[in-house]
Amino acid sequence: MNTQDYDQALIGRFAPSPTGPLHFGTLLAALGSYLMAKKSAGRWMLRIEDLDQPRVVPGSADAMLYLLEELGFEWDGEVLYQSQRFGRYQEVLDVLRARGRLFDCSCSRREILASAPHPGEEGPIYPGTCRNGPQGGRSERAVRLRVKNETIIFKDMVLGRQVQNLEQQVGDFVLHRADGVFAYQLAVVVDDIDSGVTQVVRGADLLSSTPRQIYLYHCLESKLPEYLHLPLAFGQNDKKLSKRNGSFALIFRENGSSMLWRALDFLGQSPPAELFDWPAGELLAWGVENFQISKIPAQNRQITFS
Ligand code: GLU
Repeated sequence: MNTQDYDQALIGRFAPSPTGPLHFGTLLAALGSYLMAKKSAGRWMLRIEDLDQPRVVPGSADAMLYLLEELGFEWDGEVLYQSQRFGRYQEVLDVLRARGRLFDCSCSRREILASAPHPGEEGPIYPGTCRNGPQGGRSERAVRLRVKNETIIFKDMVLGRQVQNLEQQVGDFVLHRADGVFAYQLAVVVDDIDSGVTQVVRGADLLSSTPRQIYLYHCLESKLPEYLHLPLAFGQNDKKLSKRNGSFALIFRENGSSMLWRALDFLGQSPPAELFDWPAGELLAWGVENFQISKIPAQNRQITFS
């Protein structure tokens, strides 16, 4: 591959938040994004989303990297840490402000809740209170992006056509929180643009964030990536598998390679039973070799571990 071919290749990424150990849902996002990138001989970048410092669990980023390595995942380039990019996020905020896209907002969450017309899927829909200047004398202010009454439509590679009207379903959204933390929506888009990411593969829990991110791409006049949202795994108690219901330990209860087998299976790739005991690296290589996007199921499902 010469440099030019490489530059034009697909660039995927995996962007875990280091707020606890790697759990099954995170492994699905790692695996899905890896298979999609590697199947097309693309690059796969790793980004640690340690944006919200108080939520970061010390040591968990390193533990994730170690486990990924053990499972045979190889990432391209340096690992990017969001905590090292605050200057860049501020720069982009300044650009958006200069373009008249932002406004300061002094509303508290309670005030928004009280005046919001409907509770949206993502919390209350911002009612536009501070659009023409912040109210009251509160000094902590969030920075919001003004949205337009336009419908964002995109095609997800697994879930198909998606439609969201930002004004009606979300409202002007926060890019910089009143506590000084840059918002996930801002950081994820700035990082994906700066890293040249062409394909975003992640869990379907982030599906409803995607129109906000697409809108930000428009505001920043940048080319959109493709999107693929993976089905979510539910535990027996019917909640999304995550750190919150204790399922983080699942990955360590069995050995890593059998978790990888289960993740391939969950993503519809039907790994043969005799591969269950294979070393993780070989199993992952089998996954890349045999990967078929058309087999990824759209439905969230329950998974049980023996
Ligand atoms: N850091 C996010 C998470 O762990 C994923 C962000 C993304 O893939 O866009 O849920």
